[in-house]
Amino acid sequence: QAGRSSFRRNVCSSPSRPQSCMSAWVIDQYGTNGVLRCTDEIVIPAFNSANEVLIKVNAAGLNPLDVSMRGGYGATLLNLRRDPLSVMNTCSEFPLILGRDLSGVVVDCGSGVTHFAPGDEVWAAIPPWKQGSLAEYVTLTEYEVSHKPKSLSHVEAASIPYVANTALSALVSAGGLCRENASDKRVLITGASGGVGTFSIQLLKAWGAHVTVTCSQNAEGLVRGLGADEVVDYTAGDVAEQLDVMEKFDFILDNVGGDTEQWASGLLKPWSGAKHVTLVSPLLLNTDSMGLLDGMFRALFSLHNRAFQNVISNGVFYRWAFYAPDGPALDDVCRLVDTGKILPVVEAQFSFAQVPQAFQKLEDGHSRGKTVIKVA
Ligand code: NDP
Repeated sequence: QAGRSSFRRNVCSSPSRPQSCMSAWVIDQYGTNGVLRCTDEIVIPAFNSANEVLIKVNAAGLNPLDVSMRGGYGATLLNLRRDPLSVMNTCSEFPLILGRDLSGVVVDCGSGVTHFAPGDEVWAAIPPWKQGSLAEYVTLTEYEVSHKPKSLSHVEAASIPYVANTALSALVSAGGLCRENASDKRVLITGASGGVGTFSIQLLKAWGAHVTVTCSQNAEGLVRGLGADEVVDYTAGDVAEQLDVMEKFDFILDNVGGDTEQWASGLLKPWSGAKHVTLVSPLLLNTDSMGLLDGMFRALFSLHNRAFQNVISNGVFYRWAFYAPDGPALDDVCRLVDTGKILPVVEAQFSFAQVPQAFQKLEDGHSRGKTVIKVA
């Protein structure tokens, strides 16, 4: 595969671009599963800029965020991102299309697109402020898109992008880990049996790290099969006590939050640059419940306090991490997938007609990898 900047194609808007409406699952208000509505009257998205591609979706992956967003989670910050000047009406996010992962085929390219052409098979993680993948077509910038691994089906490919971009944001951007420095690191992943965890185990093993995980007893076979070196069953007693007898860690990736915040820093090697990076922050909950300014202030105050306490008491770093769109990062993941270093972990597959059942599956919890919808 050619590098992103190594070639340029003159691609103009294709005459084969579909002109009419498309099918999609939408919500018109926030709520429980009953708000999900299937319609074939959504206008196929137009380009907002010359660097966008129109993708026909073959498969869509769901994430816990989709269930939370269905209920209104994050609406305050996401609406600000959708409409920074707040010039649109209240509730203008509706009809809202959920679904964060996609695997599909490019059908049209803006005039400024250099890396993709109609017919290319692609995968992507869709930012939560954009319309999602539970639809026939999605428009994204080419920066957000990557060529799909050739070794995977569309359903398998749709299980990876969002958790991959999230894990890379946490491990690399927030945590400073990479292929070159991970091989002598002891890493703890909490909540390792879900989407982010099953991807992170494989990535860290591909980078040569020693990986300890926490999960339920019935997920031990799965996580060991993906490469986990040591497995702690958090249902078999006090998880902090079980981890405390182990050699200390260089890095903790926290997918669980809650109590973990109380004991995680004590498990890190003191005064060695060790890091605790959590994906579970109160930022969006706070801005939803307290409003933008108060919520952000309260969240950043608590982040600052915890980070400060950790540094002065143990010399360890504490950070929050968030999903970030990054097509070039998915190019790297594609190579790891096509060389067999990262496998998709698809726990459940649903048809497009079964989207409400797929949401229910996620809402029931206890994920073991990913839930994917076959769209086409
Ligand atoms: P999943 O729902 O796929 O996985 C969560 C896993 O954790 C499940 O397998 C669950 O299985 C297990 N689990 C639950 N409680 C515990 C516990 N106390 N100890 C150990 N394991 C536990 O979620 P994801 O992997 O997709 O996401 C992980 C977390 O990261 C979520 O909280 C999610 O909201 C957050 N996230 C944040 C992002 C951000 O931008 N900040 C982006 C993506 C995810 P079982 O209950 O059977 O043990």
